[in-house]
Amino acid sequence: MGKRVAVAAANWKMNKTVAEAKAYMTELAGVMQGVSGEVEVVVFAPFLALRAVAKHADAARVGAQDCFWHDSGAFTGEVSVPMLVDVGCTDVLVGHSERRRRFGVPEQKAEMAGEVGSVFGDNDASVNQKLLAGVRGGLRPCLCVGESEDERKRGETDAVIEAQLRRGLAEVDAATVAAMLIAYEPVWSIGTGIACEPPEANRVSGLVRAAVAALTDAPTADAVRIIYGGSMSPKNVADLLPLEHIDGGLVGGASLKVETFEPIIRACACS
Ligand code: PEP
Repeated sequence: MGKRVAVAAANWKMNKTVAEAKAYMTELAGVMQGVSGEVEVVVFAPFLALRAVAKHADAARVGAQDCFWHDSGAFTGEVSVPMLVDVGCTDVLVGHSERRRRFGVPEQKAEMAGEVGSVFGDNDASVNQKLLAGVRGGLRPCLCVGESEDERKRGETDAVIEAQLRRGLAEVDAATVAAMLIAYEPVWSIGTGIACEPPEANRVSGLVRAAVAALTDAPTADAVRIIYGGSMSPKNVADLLPLEHIDGGLVGGASLKVETFEPIIRACACS
């Protein structure tokens, strides 16, 4: 197996003004000067902060948290891949569970139930369209997959992940898969402070790798970086990163301050 460079990815979600984004990126650049070892840092920022992040991203890649699959047209409120490239984006997150579920599966989020909730939700087909559009436009996608608490309780975890990968990666060529990121993010773990037990996170990440091998080939599966997301923190990162199939982290809450993201970056650089 070739060495896979670990990835420390920050998902800011709906946080940070332009001024806050600039301050964060300046602080991050300072921290990165003191990091030895190989690590790739990606900052998935809100649309409005992307230009500022890109301007101050000496040591990081710049990602959007979503995109639309048409380049332009009558799609009020959407943001296209060429627009993202125009402001300096290199990466795009697709299929985050907060896009699939909070806005998309009303029965799982009763407070969001209703017409609006069901209009904006991503499903595997739209996630695939977004991923393909990102690749067409020159962005590197990070595809998020993960089971809900109910799916895990019903013993459906493996089947859910395999289906999300099969549909999400439809028509994606092997070279693209090898170069992209896949985030395993158990939905029940996101933002809850309860990370997946490391052996189980590694097992499911191994299942992701095996599914990629089945969909493409063994060298592609060997090359693709699979990152874990779900309450990763400075406290648990050391238990997750050394594991065979975990090539880094997609970090929400703990990425909002450079102070708590830095230990995760450093752990990635050492792994
Ligand atoms: C995420 O937003 O992808 C995430 C993993 O969030 P958190 O780290 O807060 O659980």
